[in-house]
Amino acid sequence: MARRRIIAGNWKMNKTPSEAVALCNELKDLVKNDAVDVVYCVPAIDIVPVVEAVKGTNVHVGAENFYIVDNGAFTGEISAPMLKDAGVEYIIIGHSERRDIFGENDILINQKVKKAFASGLTPILCCGESLALRKADTYKEWIERQITWDLDGVTADQVKKLVIAYEPIWAIGTGETATADQAEEVCGLIRSLIAKLYDQATADEVRIQYGGSMNAGNAAELLSKPNIDGGLIGGASLKPDFGKIVNA
Ligand code: PEP
Repeated sequence: MARRRIIAGNWKMNKTPSEAVALCNELKDLVKNDAVDVVYCVPAIDIVPVVEAVKGTNVHVGAENFYIVDNGAFTGEISAPMLKDAGVEYIIIGHSERRDIFGENDILINQKVKKAFASGLTPILCCGESLALRKADTYKEWIERQITWDLDGVTADQVKKLVIAYEPIWAIGTGETATADQAEEVCGLIRSLIAKLYDQATADEVRIQYGGSMNAGNAAELLSKPNIDGGLIGGASLKPDFGKIVNA
């Protein structure tokens, strides 16, 4: 079945609100493509101005983080209803920087996936192995374990709307991209796992992205692979190159 391509930028902790608006204006014409879902996942403080800046364009807005409770005494946190009300549609969950720097584990990540769906947000669920696991050749088991835990209690209908991003940690921000064959191997493995955990129809619908130093030069080859439905892009999402990836 034909899955719609999804190219998402992860701006991470970059761009002040005024810089964010300037970037939206710079990218506006470059990211036009009616056949692709284009998403900017932006810092919380940039959400309101970015939603305003992309109005009337093909760009959707995502957030980079949230907490699993709707409101209350959680100093410094932001909730799913707040994001939804501001115009956010997508939410990155389980990024390796949140797992490794902020100690988020698969129990919290699973709660976040369920809360996002319950709140009308589409999760971009990240998984990926370290260089040590890649070298030890245990990366497949690791990815299977992450996805199995993160999707515990998530329904097939929800998984059909889910976006999964395979992001080998050794390729994030390092300039070292997985080869198209390495990326395809794991994206195919994830799709087979979804078929095993759910059914083939669900596996055929779930969209799987590759992420890790994707750029204007390597996007076309990665995106030509049958199980790679898009990209989650860090560094290159902050540059005009992002438009070339959208149109690769
Ligand atoms: C990311 O952080 O999701 C990412 C893929 O970063 P980069 O493209 O910079 O490797």
